[in-house]
Amino acid sequence: MLPGLMMDYPLTLDKIVEHARRMTPQKRIKTKLPAGGWHSYSYADFAARVNKLGNLLAGLGLGLGDRVGTFAWNNHQHLECYFGIPMAGAVCHTLNIRLSAEQLKYIIEHAGDKVIIVDGTLLPLLEPIAHQLHGVEHFLLFNCEASAVDRLPRAALYEDLLAQASDDFTPRCADENMAMGLCYTSGTTGLPKGVLYSHRSMMLHTLGVLAAAAIGPTEADVVLPVVPQFHAMAWGLPYACAWAGASMIMPGPHLQPAPLAEMIEAERVTIAAGVPTIWNGLYHELRANPRDISCVTQLVVGGSAMPRGLIAAYERELGVNVVHAWGMTELSPIGTVSKLQSRHADLDEAARWDVKAKQGYFVPGVEARIVDDAGTASPWDGETMGELQVRGYWVAGAYFRSERDEEHFTSDGWFRTGDVCTIDASGYMTITDRTKDLVKSGGEWISSVDLENALMSQESVLEAAVIAVPDARWGERPLAVLVPLADGCDESKLNECLLQAFPKFWLPDRYVIVDEIPKTGVGKMDKKALRAMFAGGELG
Ligand code: ADP
Repeated sequence: MLPGLMMDYPLTLDKIVEHARRMTPQKRIKTKLPAGGWHSYSYADFAARVNKLGNLLAGLGLGLGDRVGTFAWNNHQHLECYFGIPMAGAVCHTLNIRLSAEQLKYIIEHAGDKVIIVDGTLLPLLEPIAHQLHGVEHFLLFNCEASAVDRLPRAALYEDLLAQASDDFTPRCADENMAMGLCYTSGTTGLPKGVLYSHRSMMLHTLGVLAAAAIGPTEADVVLPVVPQFHAMAWGLPYACAWAGASMIMPGPHLQPAPLAEMIEAERVTIAAGVPTIWNGLYHELRANPRDISCVTQLVVGGSAMPRGLIAAYERELGVNVVHAWGMTELSPIGTVSKLQSRHADLDEAARWDVKAKQGYFVPGVEARIVDDAGTASPWDGETMGELQVRGYWVAGAYFRSERDEEHFTSDGWFRTGDVCTIDASGYMTITDRTKDLVKSGGEWISSVDLENALMSQESVLEAAVIAVPDARWGERPLAVLVPLADGCDESKLNECLLQAFPKFWLPDRYVIVDEIPKTGVGKMDKKALRAMFAGGELG
């Protein structure tokens, strides 16, 4: 073999901070403060504070690979943690603020967090368990009164310690294979599992996000990550924005439709990213209280399926381009993006929306296959359903502190996503279900996702979830849980519409009307909870 002669230059996150400091020091990061008003500083200020945080953590005696939890909304301090913790050689473990006290305790102990950096506005959520967290040596608090330190054991103020730290710091992350981040899957299925990212995987993921084929933010963009920083590293946007020098707008706790609409219009946001529930809420807000959000060039949506009707409504009524994406915590998280390609140039509007409602093509860096029950690869014909398996530069190879098991990782090197999908001849993937959410009626699969999309595209329906309920004759049958819009919805009309797209046996046996569909910690419809409510517990 003739070895190449290029530099072996480590893929470590400190390079992003240094690049931002040199190339775009004047660009701004703005955070909407809990009480209203804005905090705003430059990338130069940000880089200095990241260095201070590195010194601060080293000064606390943290060793390489130690875990530091973060418990915070999307704000500039949390961004500092995203960089400062890994640059100190430690692992940034983003804790989901929406978990129950019991789940939080499990995850903090499983991860072995030594320090937790806490957003003071969330103190009441952590307080009840803080005294039981004996492994946590320090709680560092920001966004709070000085007296808040009395509410947690071993607590200090983040700002006080930062003020004492030097901004001259030598990063302690020379090896690109060091762990840098830890994120637990939200446990829509099973117990939460820890995904441990490395500097190398996160840097390659960041390059992946920066590609135009993926999201591709540039210096000229103003990016609003509504997706929480505690969920799948905010889809990698903080790293991509800092490397590109894009302006960042951090919403803090202001995630309701009205403040989001105002923020997008006033800050001239060009890229906003969040789950469908958020964009559904924003759409209805804008119908009631119109604002001009046509500044948005990419409304990125993922985490669960974005209904085609909503994609069309955003484009037609609001002039906003929706970019549907699929990902998983285990994929850092970007896997696919559904942008149009040259082959779609001549399609009419309706056909374009069909394409954009798919989860999309695999971005460069991620490889995929679909397999049947016997493990044989299925064709990419847009019809054959199979389990989606992936591999690539930023795909998990094992879970933190757990044996590498065949349930999630195949012996020939693929990650089993647990999603069921089709892939068409152009490589566009469509999720039909999660292996656990499929409804199996009389031996035939019914896609709960397809039914939900069809129901949510009805004028009278705000939200819809379809689950399997046990049935003596058919094994399982679909049940639809609906949140209607003001005037309620008519079952027979819904069935009529469904029959235009699906066979008769797909029709839900029952419709249940609720005020609200329970959501998981990251805002997805919680089918586990729905099954417990309506199907007599968890199915298969
Ligand atoms: P959790 O399993 O805790 O929900 P993630 O947040 O990592 O973990 O969610 C990953 C899952 O979310 C995927 O396996 C898939 O089922 C679902 N998902 C993500 N994006 C989409 C999408 N665009 N359409 C449909 N499902 C999606």
